[in-house]
Parts: sequence; C-alpha cells; structure tokens
Amino acid sequence: MGKSFLILDEDGNLNRMVAPLLESRGHKITHCCVGKEALEIVGQNSLDAVILGEQLKDIDGIGWIVRLRQVSNDIKIVYISNTWKEAELYQKLTKEFGVGLVVHRPLKPSLFGVQVESLFPGNGKVQEAAFTALAIPETDTRPQMPSGLEDTLAALKEKYIKVLPQRLDALTEAVRQAHANPDNQTLLCEARRLAHNLKGTAASSGFEPIGNAAAQIERSLDAVRSGKTVSLEDEWLLIEAAMQVASSEADSVSRQGLSGPRGERRFENLRASDIARARVLVVCQDDLPPPVNGSASALPVEIILAGSESEALEKARKLPLDAALIDMSMEGKHNPCQLARELRGLAGYENLPLGFILASSQPEDRIAATHAGASVYLVKPLDDTALHKAMHYLIGVREGGRSRVLIVDDDDDFSSLISFTLGSEGMLVRSIADPQLIEEMMEKFSPDLILLDVNMPGVSGFDVCRLLRSTPRWQDVPILFLTGETGLDARISAFDSGGDDYLPKPVANVELLTRVKVRLERSRMLKERTDKDVLTGLLLRRAFMEQLNSLLAEAQRYNLNFCVCLLDVDHFKKVNDTYGHLAGDRVLSHFGQLLKRRFRVEDLRGRWGGEEFILAFRHETKDTMKGALTRALDELSITPFQGDHGETFYTAFSAGMVSYPEDADNVHDLLQIADKRLYIAKETGRKRVVTDDEGKC
Ligand code: GH3
Ligand code: MG
Ligand code: MG
Repeated sequence: MGKSFLILDEDGNLNRMVAPLLESRGHKITHCCVGKEALEIVGQNSLDAVILGEQLKDIDGIGWIVRLRQVSNDIKIVYISNTWKEAELYQKLTKEFGVGLVVHRPLKPSLFGVQVESLFPGNGKVQEAAFTALAIPETDTRPQMPSGLEDTLAALKEKYIKVLPQRLDALTEAVRQAHANPDNQTLLCEARRLAHNLKGTAASSGFEPIGNAAAQIERSLDAVRSGKTVSLEDEWLLIEAAMQVASSEADSVSRQGLSGPRGERRFENLRASDIARARVLVVCQDDLPPPVNGSASALPVEIILAGSESEALEKARKLPLDAALIDMSMEGKHNPCQLARELRGLAGYENLPLGFILASSQPEDRIAATHAGASVYLVKPLDDTALHKAMHYLIGVREGGRSRVLIVDDDDDFSSLISFTLGSEGMLVRSIADPQLIEEMMEKFSPDLILLDVNMPGVSGFDVCRLLRSTPRWQDVPILFLTGETGLDARISAFDSGGDDYLPKPVANVELLTRVKVRLERSRMLKERTDKDVLTGLLLRRAFMEQLNSLLAEAQRYNLNFCVCLLDVDHFKKVNDTYGHLAGDRVLSHFGQLLKRRFRVEDLRGRWGGEEFILAFRHETKDTMKGALTRALDELSITPFQGDHGETFYTAFSAGMVSYPEDADNVHDLLQIADKRLYIAKETGRKRVVTDDEGKC
C-alpha cells in the first residue's frame, strides 16, 4: 500500500531527486522547505514518514527532529546525511530521536526506494517470508551509472504496447475454446497459462489494470477447473467482463502510445543490445576511420573521444567505461604509458581492458604496450577493419568480466522485459523458455545468477532449483525465483528447494535490479574470499591452477601459445629480519598490486605461496613477455619501501619463464622447468628473468 511522505529540505534538491522515485512506487509526497510550516503540516495530515536533509530554511535538520518528537512519536523519520556521522550522533539519532533510517549521500536511486520501504515491514511485499537479511554494499567503487532507469522503463512500455494486441488475441481465443469445451482440461490449462503470463508481464511493464484483469481471469479459470464455484456460468461471465476490461485498457494504452504524449517515441526502435552497449574511451588526436567514428558503426560500442590525457581522465571519472584505446604517439606532456597506469589506478578500473595505437611495430613498443597492460595493439595508419577487430576483442575481454544472468521462464515477453532491464545495467543476459535445456545452458553460459520462474511446462522451477543444488559445481550460483505464485506455500517451497530469494510478479524493476545486484555482489565477494589472497589481491594457488588448466585446454584446442613465469622476491628473509615483518608484508602487498595493474586483464596472476608469485600470459611468446617482465622488475627495484623504523630500502625479484608448447606440453612439466630456471636465476646473481636452461637472461 502506498505511504504518505513529507520531504523536507532547504532548496528542493532532495525533493527533486527522491519524490519521482517514491511516487513511481505508489507513494504520496508532500514537500516543504520551512521547518515551522512542516510542523503544521504534520499536525494537520496523517503522514507515515518524513524524509529530511541536514538543513531547512529556518532550522537545521536535527533541531527539527527534536521539535517533531515533542509533538509526535509515531512518524517514521529518514535522515539524509551529507557525510558519515560519528557513532555517537548516529546512536543519538536512532536511539533517542527514533530516526528509522540514516542514509548517506550520494543516494543510490536503485536502493533508496527499497531502503525506505523497509521501514514498513509487511507492506504488501514478501518481507514476511523467510528472507535472508541482505547486506546492501556500502560502496560502489565504479563510477555511478547515469540513472537512465526512467528511460528504460519508458522503452519497456513502448515495446510491450506492440505485443499486447497479440497476447490479448491469443488469450481471447484460448478462453473461447475453453468455454466451448468445458470438459477439456488441456484447453482450460492453456487459457490459464496465458492469463497467468499476461498478469505478470502487463503489470511489470507498468500496465496494472490489464494485469489485474488478467489476474481475475486466472482466478476464475482456476475456479472453473476445480469446480469450486457457486455458479460456473457466473465465472464465465466474470471472465468475459475481465477480457473486455483488458481489451479496452489495451486499446487506450496503444492509442496513447501512438500519440506519444510523453515523448517516448524516441525509443521506437530500441533493442536491448543498444542499451547494453559497451563504452570505449578512445584517446587520440587524429580522426578515426569513418565506420567507427560515424553512426554507421555496426558494433555495439559507444565511442567516447578524448583529445588529451586530462580529458581522458576526466571522462573516465564521470562515465563507467568498459575499455580504453590509447594512441601512444600522441603529443602531450605525459608519457601515454603513464596515462594507462593512471586509468588503471582509478577506483574500479584495475581491470580495465586496454588497447594501444602504436606509431610502428618495433619490438620495444610492443613490450612497452604489454607491460602497461595492452590487450591489443594497432599500428598506424589505422584502418577500419583492424580497429573493428580491436574493439571486438576489447569487448570480448570486457564481457568476460561482466556479470552473467540466466533467465529461465516460459513467458518470452517477461524474459525480454527483464533482459532489457538488466542489460541496460551492463549485465550479460541469456534466457531459455524450456527448463529442460538448463544443464546445457549452464555448461555453455556459466551464469553468475539465475532468475527462475516457478510455473513452466514440464518441469517446475522448484525442480530445476533442486537439480542445480544437487550438482556440486552449481551449488553456489544464486537463484532468485520470480513468479506469479504468491501464496505462502510457494514462498516456502522456493526456500525449501534451495532458492536464495523470492520476488513476486509483477516485479518492480528497481527492486529486481537491487536484489540482483546485491546477490551478485555478495557472491562475488564470497568467491573473492575463497579464490583470492588477501595480502596481495592475487589468485590463490588452487584457483590459479584451475585457470591455468583451462588456459592449457584452450591453447590445445586452438593451437595457441602461452608463457608461465615463477617469481620469487630476492633476499626476502633479510627484508623481514632487517626491516620487520610488517615491512615485508608491505612489499608483498605492493608487488601484488604492481602485478595486478601491469600486464593485460586476461593474464593470470597468482600468489604461489610465501614470497613466490606465478603469472601466465595468454597467446604470447617468451620474447615479448620477458621484456614486459623485465620492465616490471625495473619498476620494483626503484620503488622505495619504508622499514618499520622509517628506514628506506629496495627489493627485486628473480624469475624463471617457460612457454607452451615450446618447452613442454603439460602443466606439471611447465612448472618444473620454470622452477628450475628460477633456481638458475637465483644462482647466477638474482634480479633477473631466465628463459632457458642455459641461464639466458
Ligand atoms: P632468496 O633470494 O633465495 O629467495 O632468499 P629469500 O630470503 O627470499 O628466501 P627464503 O625462502 O629463505 O625466505 C623467504 C621468507 O619469506 C621466509 C618467510 O618467513 C617469509 N615469508 C613468507 N610469507 C610471508 C608473508 O606473508 N609475510 C612476510 N612478511 N614474510 C613472509
Ligand atoms: Mg622463496
Ligand atoms: Mg625469496
């Protein structure tokens, strides 16, 4: 049920941001800037909650809360704070003044509605079911996506208007046939299935009246099927009336849609892939070849051009990027390699796929590019095919890092609606209508999260969930049920069968997005905890070996080469003994970060144990990688570290490198030879990279 909110702020900014969001969720909003007037409003209206900022025109926010509590203790309060509040004030607000929620800026629109509604437990949503409490991640290290949600919703509506007449025709026909053959259960079931699907998709696309009519049809058909009705004839009359309501609503909706009252026309030809386009920053002063620069580009890429390094950094801070392509021959005060480092140094961009444009293909340039993290490099003059290929590759690397969501639902409209919403937030979405295909799809797509319908032909969603939970490698994939079945039994079955969360259709897009994001973030953190070493941020040995084995399988299948390298910090025991164990830890942590930021996103990096590290470089020969690694060695050896008593010291490492298939064709032998070469590097003076058994370096 909608709630009544009073929003208080000094300049109307908070109201502008929050009011449309809450109104779209069915709540009523009153706004006021002056504390004195606000107290009068509280006295005269029945309000459910007040949302206020730190300052009003005549009084500060906390002062106003004190006054409010002198006259009313019932109203819930949401306090929007500009900064983190120290624990003492936070306690005072929540304990003494009964503030229900303290939210810190910047507000996240996708979370805010859900946070505020959580003040009203049992508010028609499913909170009464056994929900696991969800920790909302406090920080989002990536730059914020421009909201765009309203646009997405408008586009969804537009899309749905187009298919609505067909859906209604199909339902009308199915109802007609069922009515003509009242003893035929198959026809009744088919009509019910169509009504059930229409209920979910219409309401989720923002057409509640049609959804309600479809719900009525579904209920009546259930009554007809079970015979639990006073009069069969009345049920059929009810169905007919509901069909009429749905049709006339659909008529008026499509008329409105065609006249475009809210300027939604621009979404006419929008496809999910348009919204889910990758954003590539191109840092270059020359003109790009026309097919990429112009609108004719067939690639799902949005190019962000920057003519200077400062412009590039500024844009990277503002827009969430998926990859960057940098011209290394650009004139400017910095070294372009430095720009690559600075980009990777921005929060959330440690794994930004990079491509470089080189003036020539000198080995030295290629080594520099690989060291600085280039997944691809292009040589001038640029031609559109090469540029196209490079973009394609970068997007591929990026897709490897995108969250993958699988939708299992027999209702195609619903799947495309959800794909659209999630795709617009950068997720990679696939859907299947036939639950029997689940295993095949799991193998092929390997999703990070599954959205599962309950009612499907043949197999129920609960069975699919049980099947996945009984297969060890899929046991941990988060599963969210999305279904029109809202009874308590269905909710309990959802959790019983191993589901992680439950959302009833019609599903509010914002809520769906929030829950999906929170679940994905949670399982990513969990995986991180089991796969990554805390001190260095690199893969642990077991996780590294798993990935190395798949790299070998890929290389065998496609006839590719790769290099593996074992690294060991020199005289590390002495570092610990002389400068302290904590200083030693700082060296390991810094070295881990250095390995993470240099080289390419798709290369593998692990902590082998103690002060030993391991790297694997895809599709590369020893010559290029040796050059890149030597640069990393040079970089480490001029990095000053602080001892526990303030002393300055330097470290270095030794490394042994092998390549597949040149040195060996299996992981065991590759590692043994790399270890032998590492030993040779230590024996022959340390601080070097050895690439053969003769100790060549
Ligand atoms: P070499 O150049 O021959 O590799 O000599 P080394 O001193 O680096 O090699 P050694 O294997 O003798 O010593 C490695 C030391 O690393 C011993 C161990 O206490 C220390 N070490 C292992 N893990 C950690 C860690 O996580 N933190 C710190 N501070 N030290 C560690
Ligand atoms: Mg060692
Ligand atoms: Mg060592």
